[in-house]
Order: sequence, then C-alpha cells, then structure tokens
Amino acid sequence: MTGHEPLILALAAVLGLLVGSFLNVCIWRLPRRESVVSPGSYCPACERRLTWWEMAPLLSYLALGGRCRTCRARISPVYPIVEAANAAIYVAALLIWGWSLHALGVAIFGSLLLVGGMIDGRHRIIPDVITIPGLVAGLVLSTLNPAIGFWGSLAGLALGGGFLLLVAVVTNGGMGGGDIKLAAMMGAFLGWSSLVAGLLFGFIAGALFGGTLVLLGVKHRKDLMAFGPFLAAGGLAAAFWGPDVVAWYLRVLWG
Ligand SMILES: [Zn+2]
Repeated sequence: MTGHEPLILALAAVLGLLVGSFLNVCIWRLPRRESVVSPGSYCPACERRLTWWEMAPLLSYLALGGRCRTCRARISPVYPIVEAANAAIYVAALLIWGWSLHALGVAIFGSLLLVGGMIDGRHRIIPDVITIPGLVAGLVLSTLNPAIGFWGSLAGLALGGGFLLLVAVVTNGGMGGGDIKLAAMMGAFLGWSSLVAGLLFGFIAGALFGGTLVLLGVKHRKDLMAFGPFLAAGGLAAAFWGPDVVAWYLRVLWG
C-alpha cells in the first residue's frame, strides 16, 4: 500500500481535521489551565455548550458563516485555519512518505508545532505539557527511524536545547524556557542535521518578519516578539525539506 489511494488520503484529511479541532481546544484551554477533556466545547463569548454538528471541523464554520448560532459573536478564522493546516500536513506526509512510521512522525510533529506555535503567538508561553511529551515521542519515533536513530535524535535534542539556551543567555531573556524546550523537541524529531536547517529557517523567518514590522513602524526594535511561531514554522519546513537542504549544502561544500 503506497498511501496514494484516494480513500486513504480522504481518511487522512478527515483525521487531520478532527485532530485539528482538538488542537483548537488545546490552543484555547491549555494557556487558561482548563481541562482539554471536559466540559465539552463551548462558545467563548456566551459559554453555551456546542451541539455535535457545531463542532464539526471546517464545515460548521462555513455553515454558521463564522458566527455563534445564538449570540452571533464572531468565531475567529484561526479555528478553521488550524484545522485545514493540520489536515494539509497529514495529507502531505502521506503523499510523500506513504503509509509509514516516518509519515506518522511528521503528522505528530506537525500537530505539536501547530499547538505550540499558536499558543506562543497568542500568550507568549509554550506549555510543558506539549513540549515534554513531544520530546519523548520524538526520541522514540526517531530511534525507530533508521535515517535518524537514537543518537541522531539525542544529538538534535541537545543541540536544539543548547543553542536556544545560549541565545537566551546572550540576549538576556530574548528567549524563554518554552522556546528552549520547543527547540529540543524539534531536535528530537528532526535529528541534528535537519534541525540545523529548521533553526536556520526559523531565525530567517523571525528576522524578516520582525525587521519588516520595525521598518513599517508597527513595532519598536526593543519590543519583544514571540519567537515560538517562527521556530515552529522552521521546524515544520525542516520536516518536509530539511534533508534536501542538508544534501544541497553538503554538495555545495564538497563539490
Ligand atoms: Zn455564543
């Protein structure tokens, strides 16, 4: 089975949407220290419990026109975007790596990055409940993946955590503990060589975005910006293109 069959891809998309819907619950509740299991989903504005069809990912947002059915409060478009993005990651992983452990690893990694990046973007924190289990999952999955292996994963973990710790010390608090643990988790999933590409992507994206905001006068140079979203975006890019970037770089280096 290659994983390219339309039915399998459709199942991956549906699973991606459903998990994405749960990620939205985590993005809303984890920073507020609420349980992600109970109570059931509610409207953040009127706190009315949602009926089952109002919780259907993507479709309910479209059917309701982006508003709560009773209080008419606007529902953030971030919800359907997170669901669609998660589904896209699952389908892309299946298309590229087929029905494999590697595809499963990229799917789990992508979901963790979505939650971590989104929470950090909104609240400037990355809860340990995402990064610590993620770090363990990354170590286990990479150990089972001959392309990375236990030592490649552990080296990535140490390099990611160590490098961000160094940046945190040098910039005197420009990075938080959450960023350090996120980078360590990324290293555990990616292995050390792809992690380097991921950090590079993340720092370039953060510098371009931050620099643009300063140039446009939206932000002052001294304003602190959450770095987690860029780190997460870099990690996601590296999951898909990291090995290609590393291979390209080695070709350039060695001719
Ligand atoms: Zn409402």
